[in-house]
Amino acid sequence: MAETSTTQLAVIGGGPGGYAAAFLAADLGMEVTLIDLEANPGGVCLYRGCIPSKALLHVAKLLDETRHAAEWGIEFGEPRIKLAKLRAFKERVVDKLTGGVGQVAKLRKVRFVRGRAKLLDAHRVEIDLVEGGRETLEFQHAILATGSEPAKVPGFPEDPERILDSTGALELRDVPEKLLVVGGGYIGLELGSVYAALGSKVTVVEMMPSLLAGADPDLVRPLARKIEERVDSVLLETRVAGMKVQKNGVKVRFEGKNAVDGEKLFDKVLVSIGRRPNSAGLGLESTAVVVDDRGFVQVDQQLRTREPSIYAIGDLVGQPMLAHKASHEGRTAVEAIAGHKVAFEPAAIPAVVFTDPEVAWCGLTETEAKARDRKVSVARFPWAASGRAQTLDRSDGVTKLIFDPETERVLGVGICGPGAGELIAEGVLAVEMAATATDLKLSIHPHPTLSETVMESAEVFFGQSTHVFRPVKK
Ligand SMILES: Cc1cc2nc3c(=O)[nH]c(=O)nc-3n(C[C@H](O)[C@H](O)[C@H](O)COP(=O)(O)OP(=O)(O)OC[C@H]3O[C@@H](n4cnc5c(N)ncnc54)[C@H](O)[C@@H]3O)c2cc1C
Repeated sequence: MAETSTTQLAVIGGGPGGYAAAFLAADLGMEVTLIDLEANPGGVCLYRGCIPSKALLHVAKLLDETRHAAEWGIEFGEPRIKLAKLRAFKERVVDKLTGGVGQVAKLRKVRFVRGRAKLLDAHRVEIDLVEGGRETLEFQHAILATGSEPAKVPGFPEDPERILDSTGALELRDVPEKLLVVGGGYIGLELGSVYAALGSKVTVVEMMPSLLAGADPDLVRPLARKIEERVDSVLLETRVAGMKVQKNGVKVRFEGKNAVDGEKLFDKVLVSIGRRPNSAGLGLESTAVVVDDRGFVQVDQQLRTREPSIYAIGDLVGQPMLAHKASHEGRTAVEAIAGHKVAFEPAAIPAVVFTDPEVAWCGLTETEAKARDRKVSVARFPWAASGRAQTLDRSDGVTKLIFDPETERVLGVGICGPGAGELIAEGVLAVEMAATATDLKLSIHPHPTLSETVMESAEVFFGQSTHVFRPVKK
């Protein structure tokens, strides 16, 4: 017999979308039940995404810096890597954060139920409890926040030892001598960078003509150069045509512009070709919720599905599949349920690739402007002219601002360089607050910092940058 209970708001999925929603709802006085399979809220982001990858990337950066330090007269020798300790560090970070979020849920009196949820209709969900048994939960409103999982390539063999997805790669069971990364998107490049820093010979294969397809090419270039120095090879406009798992590794056959002749043997393969929404198995067919042909739940600007009592947020509803987008959608959905006049319509959702150098952008990109035939002015400040970048021996970066040529309003910001992920926050604020080139130019930035590159890009717009002589064409 399944137990029956009731709640005002059921949040299904405890990732950064789900727990942000549950917490705000509790703050607004709602009685909330949060359901997830893990021991604590956190979702993909905290357990097997953003957080463990960034802990490992921090270590990768340290390793790269110690190698680079030889050029400054400091030699550390080859590092000795204690993999078990490194894994323990990463797991400690995850445990601290997920445990912390669990505590915050308790403090807010959010009821956390560990189990797999399936909708029975527009007001009931059945939960298969992890500890055994079933619970039927009746709700007034529900927010679906079940996130996404790694996409698989049909026809590729399945072998969790040799063929990894991002979750398997983050387990860091060993450091394979030769690793093939299939997919040159941000997850492949971040995890490929970790393994390259730890000593793997990494090959990256990407079907598109450039890494990070969709990002502005001038932002990707400095990263692409660094990646080529660090990995064995980058095969662009090339695809994996076949894979065979054998005793001593995975034999891979390539097709396309840079295909290697014959088959190549790798110890492991990391497949990172994108993610797909977790909408199957959720019982959506017993409601009026509609999904598109890729499985994304269809929502309006209040994150409402076609079923009036059910909202959906995060990776489940579409791109960009990023934690901060999920959290903001979650908060918007809760406010809409609470009857506030809200809509999810950000002017800028930042995207950050946490490689070295980092690549970050927000608002309108140059690529999008071109595709939409929108006239923009672009002002670039090369980091070679930044005092702070020189002190770091990192002149490879670039900061650029995209302006409306008529109003001088900042429409987008792009940055490539160490710390770009932190610097982009100023860009988000500029775009959201409708700042103009003059606003950025006149805001005094501290010296010597990389943030000055944002201010000086605005000066470049007027042909008056202190450190770059680039007069405006009359
Ligand atoms: C390797 C990697 C690195 C990443 N790095 C970044 C980064 O640096 N920055 C960034 O912004 N984003 C990053 N992401 C993306 C980020 O993790 C996701 O965008 C984010 O987690 C989406 O949040 P969400 O709340 O939509 O769902 P998720 O975090 O996916 O959480 C969904 C939760 O729902 C649970 N669930 C699913 N089905 C059910 C069910 N039927 N019943 C109960 N529970 C269920 C799942 O167990 C999961 O805990 C990364 C992803 C990966 C894989």
